[in-house]
Amino acid sequence: MAKEDLECSFCGRKKPETNLLIAGLDAHICDRCIEQAHGIVLEESKQSGNAELSSELMLKKPMQIKKFLDEYIIGQEYTKKVMSVAVYNHYKRLLQPASKDDIEIQKSNIIMVGQTGTGKTLMAKTIAKMLNVPLAIVDATVLTEAGYVGEDVESILTRLLQVADYNLEKAEKGIVFIDEIDKIARKSDNPSITRDVSGEGVQQALLKLLEGTTVNVPPKGGRKHPDQKFIEVNTEHILFIAGGAFDGIERMISKRLNMAAIGYKAASQEDVIDTDNLLQYIIPKDLKDFGLIPEIIGRLPVLSYMDPLDAETLRAILTQPKNAIIKQYKKLFEMDDIKFTITDGALDFIVTKAIEYKLGARGLRSLCEEILTDAMFELPSSKEKKLHVTKEYAEDKLDKTTLKRLKAVS
Ligand code: ADP
Repeated sequence: MAKEDLECSFCGRKKPETNLLIAGLDAHICDRCIEQAHGIVLEESKQSGNAELSSELMLKKPMQIKKFLDEYIIGQEYTKKVMSVAVYNHYKRLLQPASKDDIEIQKSNIIMVGQTGTGKTLMAKTIAKMLNVPLAIVDATVLTEAGYVGEDVESILTRLLQVADYNLEKAEKGIVFIDEIDKIARKSDNPSITRDVSGEGVQQALLKLLEGTTVNVPPKGGRKHPDQKFIEVNTEHILFIAGGAFDGIERMISKRLNMAAIGYKAASQEDVIDTDNLLQYIIPKDLKDFGLIPEIIGRLPVLSYMDPLDAETLRAILTQPKNAIIKQYKKLFEMDDIKFTITDGALDFIVTKAIEYKLGARGLRSLCEEILTDAMFELPSSKEKKLHVTKEYAEDKLDKTTLKRLKAVS
């Protein structure tokens, strides 16, 4: 057969009509058919990817999500429950077939209010781990309005792309945890006084992102690379979780509660307010009074609070979670064939010091590190194959200066 008589076995185009005709064993394919086939392959894999995601996610009902959270997070029952429902609904929304009716499920972005070190980041991390989706953790304090020194809000998506290894599809179903959202609260109650660079402007810039929009994202971040190509990221299916300590918000809650008590009948026995944990009464209005703009509050419709960590919880954090600190040290020592044990007295001592020096849950790790450093340094090179930590041992390793230093760095 003459060369020009060869044709594509798929579309029948003659060789001169194609740019390229590739020969197989007893068939040919042209460049156009290759491209078309490639498109079909991509589409198919996208759909099967969705199906995979869907079956995996749909298997986990809110109660199962909560069970998973229970394995890693101690206490915080309310937030775990609220979070389980919000995450379940979020992914239901993501998987809903094109809507025939007009009912559009809104995003269930979440905001958690609670002191630092109570497990807000851990909550976001655990959810991402369970869903096997990328998680970007960003600090709201570094964000500024476009045009000011600092990072544009788009940098959040750059981060997400990075953790998703630039897999756009994965990133678009990921989770963003915005820490310290309280730091971009409006400083003054009167919005008209001045433009507030670090506060309201950033909140405004965040709005679109939270709601769902397409953003041109510089894949390497920053404005330093003006030539870099932008990647279009759609935030429609990205779950945003915000967290903040909202220092002082208790005063607003208490003021509101007291006003309500005066306005209505005298408080009955059940209405007694638990003043040790006022955050549990938080409502969106308190966030507004604190300085979040109503639009932002509206786009973070799931509001939850974190309980302060008491001694019992701190004690449990040391030993109970799946990757509890003490379990981690046991494993580390085990790798050198060293059997590590610790008495209840020593654990209680660590908790007492964490509370006394206001180190919180994060301090537990630093305290353990201080107590165990000598042993971790010496034992791998010695014949000793046992380490038994008692309260006395812990006390001996933690003198006052060490504790002061820990407090200074925490
Ligand atoms: P936050 O984001 O609220 O400041 P983190 O989630 O970063 O707090 O918590 C700091 C560390 O303390 C975590 O890495 C975790 O080890 C521990 N931690 C805090 N709260 C809990 C909790 N409720 N259950 C288990 N570990 C916790």
